[in-house]
Amino acid sequence: MKLKTFLPGDVSGKKVLVRVDLNVPLADGKVTDSTRIAAHLPTLRALKAAGAKVALISHLGRPKGKVDPKYTLAPVGEEMARMTGWKIRFVPDCIGPEVEKAVSEWKDDEFLLLENVRFHPEEEQNDMEFAKSISKNFDVFVMDAFSASHRAHSSTRAIAEVLPSFAGILIVKETEMLSVARDKPQKPFVLILGGAKVSDKIAVVENMMKKVDTILIGGGMAFTFFKAQGREIGKSLCESDKIEFAARMLDEADKHGVKILLPLDVIVADEFKPDSPYLLVSPDEIPSDKMGLDIGPKTVEAFTKVILGSKTVLWNGPMGVFEMPAFSKGTEAIAKALAEATEKGSFTVVGGGDSAAAITQFGYENKVSHVSTGGGASLEFFEGKILPGIEPYDITE
Ligand code: AMP
Repeated sequence: MKLKTFLPGDVSGKKVLVRVDLNVPLADGKVTDSTRIAAHLPTLRALKAAGAKVALISHLGRPKGKVDPKYTLAPVGEEMARMTGWKIRFVPDCIGPEVEKAVSEWKDDEFLLLENVRFHPEEEQNDMEFAKSISKNFDVFVMDAFSASHRAHSSTRAIAEVLPSFAGILIVKETEMLSVARDKPQKPFVLILGGAKVSDKIAVVENMMKKVDTILIGGGMAFTFFKAQGREIGKSLCESDKIEFAARMLDEADKHGVKILLPLDVIVADEFKPDSPYLLVSPDEIPSDKMGLDIGPKTVEAFTKVILGSKTVLWNGPMGVFEMPAFSKGTEAIAKALAEATEKGSFTVVGGGDSAAAITQFGYENKVSHVSTGGGASLEFFEGKILPGIEPYDITE
């Protein structure tokens, strides 16, 4: 996939509005994870170096079209200033007189950070008039928010029809890396799926089935597959309306010559609690009063062997409840296996969301080829969808 990006001449001396994703976690008014801020710095540095004046527009949380102080971007601006040493002027709205005033007083060495675009209901309606209002004070638009690119909103899609627009460095990097895995993977190619729900990953399985050699399934979603095989799963997660899909996938995999590996052993607990008593069992012996919360060591060994024997690895979804130390070992071991495979020369990609949080928690985030910043966006990318926030820049021949 090739995207239209900016050259210095496109932005030099221009007022550039950049759509970033500063939807970061906050606690007591402080940013607790600044990964998303850091991901945009290459684009912002390149724009500054080219002599652009840079303003930032983003959403934060789901304020549902109303001003809600809980979702102000002001503390995110403070964190960004602390991280970079840049002067960041916070503007308490993203359209109207507040923006006009800030733009009229805009100093060359100053970034403007506009208030949460989702304080306006028109944003999520992809409203063209609202896109025009956002654009009014700027010359050029740069779309850098990969993690919001699966949404057709005014600041991610409609605006591209109003201003001369380019893809930012983060989006270019994300699409390049994810395309390697999706469109031209070196074989053997293994897809690792986990997390809570089968339903979120159905379209990914369907699209990738034709391309992969092996699918490793862990996490909560494995239990729906066990159920499809007629096994008893006790109190483990199960999506009863997806059992048929799971059965069909097991069949289809056979037809396509794709191997699906399910856990060989599972850690089961009495309750969904960090200190719940637990034990290791075979998937054929899950007690009716227990729930599976992690994969066991035999599974880790089998999955690791496949990962280390692959040239391309795509991972989406934790292998267990990695937020609880007692049920995090399977996910940690798979993160480690990806790091080892990378060192041996494999191309390894971690889809965003919880798997990105997990690999970071275990300290392997810089030891794999790519960790995506987009959870929903990377899933939709692997579903083979054209993302509305990226489509305007696609110049693939
Ligand atoms: P997802 O957003 O579908 O990738 O799911 C991620 C969530 O799945 C994480 O919060 C995990 O704690 C959770 N998860 C993983 N394995 C299990 C399991 N066996 N039972 C319940 N939840 C799980």
